[in-house]
Amino acid sequence: AVQHDGGNAVCFYTPEMAAAATRRMMLTMHLNHAIERNEMHLVYQPIVDGKTGRVVSAEALLRWTHDTLGPVSPAEFIPVAEESGLIVPLTDWILSTAIGQMMRWNAEGVLPDRVFLNISGQQFLRGNLTARLGELLSGCPELRPHLGLEITEQAAVRDLKVAIKTLGELSALGIQTAIDDFGSGYSSLSYVQQLPVAKLKIDRAFVIDVPTNPKSNALVRAAVGMAHGLGLATVAEGVETEEQRKFLVSVGCDLLQGYFFGRPMTPEALAEMIRQQRTPTAG
Ligand code: C2E
Ligand code: MG
Ligand code: MG
Ligand code: MG
Repeated sequence: AVQHDGGNAVCFYTPEMAAAATRRMMLTMHLNHAIERNEMHLVYQPIVDGKTGRVVSAEALLRWTHDTLGPVSPAEFIPVAEESGLIVPLTDWILSTAIGQMMRWNAEGVLPDRVFLNISGQQFLRGNLTARLGELLSGCPELRPHLGLEITEQAAVRDLKVAIKTLGELSALGIQTAIDDFGSGYSSLSYVQQLPVAKLKIDRAFVIDVPTNPKSNALVRAAVGMAHGLGLATVAEGVETEEQRKFLVSVGCDLLQGYFFGRPMTPEALAEMIRQQRTPTAG
């Protein structure tokens, strides 16, 4: 930002802002080649049924490891990919990679009931998502009921009309949808009521404070109650302790996800977890 003040231009860029801009440029440059150089992979985090503790679903999470930059968090590079348009090929890669993995799990008999993929707000609102998914799933229609998509509350609310239409199309395809990071934005409850989704994922920010903070407890209890009232299932994210697990189950949260049950892991490790829980225990 430049302010003209009696002919003297005053620059308001701080060194921190310049450093952040340089970092973004560098990430953009390297992101350009990340797919062709095989620097991206997906990891899968188990999602368990609150009542039984069994792994029923998984969330695919993107990982980028660059030669010199090392691992870069998706929280940092997804926004950069959105800004630069690279999110388009990247989303395509995520969809086809995850569907390929689901086919292999299916062949091995270890496909989770549901595998959730994160869709960036921009990709979700852009329009051709449903068509592309239809294409990718045309050879394997049996996977459709096993696919789930997560979109953030903020993305859905950004363009409610498009969001409602797209969510409807996806559900017509048999693909389940979930609102991610619920409670982290400023959206009102009336929006949620209008969105044809099946699940609500309660943001880690609330889960982190239960059961010690009575206000968080009240919020989580209210979110679960509201979701159930609207016919939606709830998923709590970021469950790290037994105390959190107990509280969430006691308020009726349907599904639980977090380090307490498992970190994001390789597809082989997830398959092993699913196999293990099938082995009948003695006695
Ligand atoms: P998210 O979709 O809300 O994913 C949950 C994040 O919480 C993941 O971070 C996960 O590793 C982390 N997490 C799960 N359980 C725990 C826990 O018990 N404790 C703590 N401290 N963290 C936990 P991650 O993988 O770094 O992803 C961050 C965000 O980046 C995601 O938030 C999502 O918004 C975005 N992202 C990740 N993968 C993709 C992708 O394939 N596509 C898009 N568009 N966005 C993605
Ligand atoms: Mg997510
Ligand atoms: Mg989430
Ligand atoms: Mg989150």
